[in-house]
Amino acid sequence: MDARTAPLLWIPRAGVARSTDGALRDRRQRPWRDLRISLTDRCNFRCSYCMPRSRFGPGHRFLPQAQLLNFEEIAQVGRQALALGVRTLRLTGGEPLLRRDLARLIGQLAALRTLEGTPPDLALTTNGSLLADQAVALREAGLNRLTVSLDALDDAVFQRMNDVGFPVAEVLRGLEAAQRAGFERIKVNMVVRRGVNDGEALALAEHFRENYGGALVLRFIEFMDAGCHNGWKMDEVLPSDELRARIAARWPLLPLPATRGGETAQRWRYTDGAGEIGFISSVSHAFCGDCTRARLTADGRLFTCLFAPQGHDLRPLLRGAQGGEAELRGRLAAIWAGRSDAYSEQREALRLLQPERADMHVLGG
Ligand code: SAM
Ligand code: SF4
Ligand code: SF4
Repeated sequence: MDARTAPLLWIPRAGVARSTDGALRDRRQRPWRDLRISLTDRCNFRCSYCMPRSRFGPGHRFLPQAQLLNFEEIAQVGRQALALGVRTLRLTGGEPLLRRDLARLIGQLAALRTLEGTPPDLALTTNGSLLADQAVALREAGLNRLTVSLDALDDAVFQRMNDVGFPVAEVLRGLEAAQRAGFERIKVNMVVRRGVNDGEALALAEHFRENYGGALVLRFIEFMDAGCHNGWKMDEVLPSDELRARIAARWPLLPLPATRGGETAQRWRYTDGAGEIGFISSVSHAFCGDCTRARLTADGRLFTCLFAPQGHDLRPLLRGAQGGEAELRGRLAAIWAGRSDAYSEQREALRLLQPERADMHVLGG
């Protein structure tokens, strides 16, 4: 039964509506299925669309270590989220591979269980710069899925995008190490900015079609107005339909069905059998109606939308003498149940009404 059509039950302890399939619903009847966990607000890149150097230079003050949730606190939130019907935990950042002892956290999260009694689907998004050295340890610790960001194949363009002179070859080395470590169907994310790196889209498509036997899935992300510091302009958004037409003119494409509810990407396959690609069209085709995601910042704030101005601070509950598991679960349930976010559907109005938005490297994308 689809979670959106399942009948509702009243669970008095949590004080919120849940459907008979265990899913907790928000005010738009969207189930909570995904928790993105940011492990740090730091990053070794300065991507212009996320952490522009002009704003995040040497004087920028990152979160002090003492404010970061420790692994036990992260696992506590993960455990209670899973108890409320979440199935996927995605680790992100900043750059999550900068977090010391990451494999130990992955081991702790892999030992948790969903409502169905299965291990959670554990995923991680990385810029790939440190992957070559860590891929085996992450896999052995229990990480299931990997997404690697790569915005160009041409070194000059990529180095301009990451703004720290990081070479493409090292990210490709990380991808190959991840494949050897046993990760399957690795996703590669390219953020497309018209006039900046859109000329790289076909080269990346060709690279991932022709190599790796179709095992790596390239996804194109529309440049989003995340945070308030990336100089976002609608003119720099290349709508997915236009980009897809460019790609299909060279290699014909056919649509694929979604693999699960709440999927962010529209999937397409090459008709010649060279694998699939995806388009994440947050600007041109908002998908808020299916949004099953919440985001936990490294310092313990829960955001119910990528574009929300503020989160719900869980740290007092996690660190206070009073807070027990039931209180934390109740708080998470109440936050999700009260959610009605749909920023992308209302972008034009909300950009004016709600000018403050948390930064992407804080929320984790
Ligand atoms: N540092 C890791 C990385 O880059 O993969 C994880 C964190 S990053 C914030 C997560 C994802 O958000 C990346 O795929 C990145 O390209 C994407 N992203 C960041 N800023 C964006 C923006 N303004 N528009 C669209 N995607 C963005
Ligand atoms: Fe760092 Fe990822 Fe943001 Fe780039 S997109 S600056 S790699 S957090
Ligand atoms: Fe979800 Fe907010 Fe993005 Fe809409 S804008 S899909 S509600 S995170």
